[in-house]
Amino acid sequence: MTINFEGKVAIVTGAGNGLGRSHALALAARGAKVVINDLGGARDGSGASSLASQEVVRLIEENGGEAISHGANVANFEEVQDMVQQTIAKWGRVDILINNAGILRDKSFSKMSIDDFKLVIDVHLMGSVNCTKAVWDIMREQNYGRIVMTTSSSGMYGNFGQSNYGAAKMAVLGLMNTLVIEGAKNNIRVNAIAPTASTRMTEDLMPEDVAKIFTSEAVSAGLMTLCDDDAPNRFVLCAGAGGFSRARIFETEGCFIPQQSQTPEAVRALWSELTEQEGQTAFESGINQSEKFVKKAVTYMASQ
Ligand code: NAD
Repeated sequence: MTINFEGKVAIVTGAGNGLGRSHALALAARGAKVVINDLGGARDGSGASSLASQEVVRLIEENGGEAISHGANVANFEEVQDMVQQTIAKWGRVDILINNAGILRDKSFSKMSIDDFKLVIDVHLMGSVNCTKAVWDIMREQNYGRIVMTTSSSGMYGNFGQSNYGAAKMAVLGLMNTLVIEGAKNNIRVNAIAPTASTRMTEDLMPEDVAKIFTSEAVSAGLMTLCDDDAPNRFVLCAGAGGFSRARIFETEGCFIPQQSQTPEAVRALWSELTEQEGQTAFESGINQSEKFVKKAVTYMASQ
């Protein structure tokens, strides 16, 4: 069951360094033609350079693969559209999009400026929106698409000093959930990776001996399973240091309070029942929750 990307065209954003570089090299090693996108700025998003992305192209070509680089800022839709047009002009299709580019502007919420909040949202969330929007109709027409969002434990669970980053990283899962529904009839599958790796983004967080086991390559091994023909859909794969797991939102079965008794005190009184985890469900669409509540109300009314 070898995973193979022969004949596939992939765009990897932020592929000049760290995880994106590793993803791009892994895709190319398994036959994909790869667009190495990178703005080439610093960790906080300042500056720009094409050196790192050109080096990744060189490495891929040296190993007999095909790659081009593009310096689009993912937060700029026109630049992203230009990147996709150049990809189509060169290879005629886009099968895989890895939304990976990212920056950090960490500060506690009380000290964070609105500009730092917006910039992080612009790169992570709007960057993913822009790139996905630019390839979406191409993938629909091809009846084939594999898209991976890059989320984070910081978004799913919180992290001190990362309100901007956490909000953006959770938002890409919201984007994924709806794209899964809208892309299904055109064989577009959308998944997410929640990585932990030793890169410049985490360089001041990990002691050297720990950093050694958190390789980008370990994350890329997991990512490959999210973007081949047999990829799952709506899967959040957590990957770090060789550990792999799945993250998912579950909702408890909950309780029902009839209209005449719907007071805050009544809700609090049923807290343990509404938080009971046995029988909890992972929904496939927002409407599933409304259906559950309607069922509870109908069951109650029938019992009266
Ligand atoms: P990194 O800083 O090594 O690489 C990020 C790359 O994105 C850089 O090459 C940078 O130039 C590029 N980039 C930044 N802004 C861009 C823009 N506007 N347009 C195009 N390219 C841009 O960081 P990394 O650790 O490899 O992070 C990759 C992704 O993984 C990010 O989305 C990050 O949030 C996410 N992530 C990383 C970790 C981790 O442990 N390293 C954990 C959770 C999530």
